[in-house]
Amino acid sequence: MSKLSLAYIFHQQQLLVDQNFNLPEVESLASDLYFHAGDQVIARDLLADEDIPAGLQLVAIRQLLTVWTIQQFEQASRAIQLLEWRRNHKFCSHCGHATEAHVNEHAMVCPACRYRQYPRVQPCVITLITRGNDEILLAKNAKNKSNMYGLIAGFVEVGETLEEAVRRETFEEVGLKLKNIQYLASQPWPFPSNLMIAFRAEYAGGEIQLQEEEISDAQFFKFDQLPEIPFKGSIAYAMIKHVIDGHPVADDTREWL
Ligand SMILES: [Zn+2]
Repeated sequence: MSKLSLAYIFHQQQLLVDQNFNLPEVESLASDLYFHAGDQVIARDLLADEDIPAGLQLVAIRQLLTVWTIQQFEQASRAIQLLEWRRNHKFCSHCGHATEAHVNEHAMVCPACRYRQYPRVQPCVITLITRGNDEILLAKNAKNKSNMYGLIAGFVEVGETLEEAVRRETFEEVGLKLKNIQYLASQPWPFPSNLMIAFRAEYAGGEIQLQEEEISDAQFFKFDQLPEIPFKGSIAYAMIKHVIDGHPVADDTREWL
C-alpha cells in the first residue's frame, strides 16, 4: 500500500485544509511536483471552475504557520516556492521559447536551446541588535500598518559577504554601527523564496537615523517593555525569544519553533 498523496491546493495566498488545518489526501488529481523519496505531493492552484470540496476550507498560509509543526511548514514551504517558481519560468530566459518541466529534477528545460532554469533562493539577512544587557533594537516597517515592531532585515547584494550585508542594512535603515556579529540560525521563508539568515550583533555606536521609505520608527526597548513583536513561527520571533529568555542557541530552527 503506497501512502496517499498530500495535496497543496492554493488560491492566492491561501491553502485548502480540513477543519483541523490538515492538508487533504488526494489520489485522483494529476500530480505536479515530487519532493524527497517517500513524499508524494501534489501542488497546484485551485482551478477557476472548481468548488471548494465539502469539509475543506481556504485558510491564509501565514495563519497556518502558527498551528503547523516544523515538518509540515518545511514541506509546505517547498511546495509554495516550487509552484511559484514554475509559474514564473514558463519561458526560456535565454531564447524565449516555452519551457517544459524536467521529469526527474526541479528544472525547467528549453526544448529549443536546452537551457535549464533551476529554482533559486534569495539570501536575506535578519539581525537582532542588543545594547547593554537588557535592550534590543526593534523597528517598524513603513509599509506595515499594524503596530508590530520587527528586526532589521534585507537582501544580500551581489559580491557581498553576509556580515557586510548585516552592517550595510543596519547602517542604511537605522544609521547604527555594529560589533560582534554572530551567526544564529537560518530558515527557508516562502514569501516568495527567501532563505532567512539570522545574526545577532551588539550596538557599537551612532544615533538612530531612520531611512524613512523603509522604517517609520526604531527604538531600543527594554526586554521587559517590548511592543508587539512578529508572530510565533517566524524566525524573528524565535530570535527575540532566544535572546530575551536565554534559550540555548540552536543552529537549527526545528528546535526553535
Ligand atoms: Zn531556450
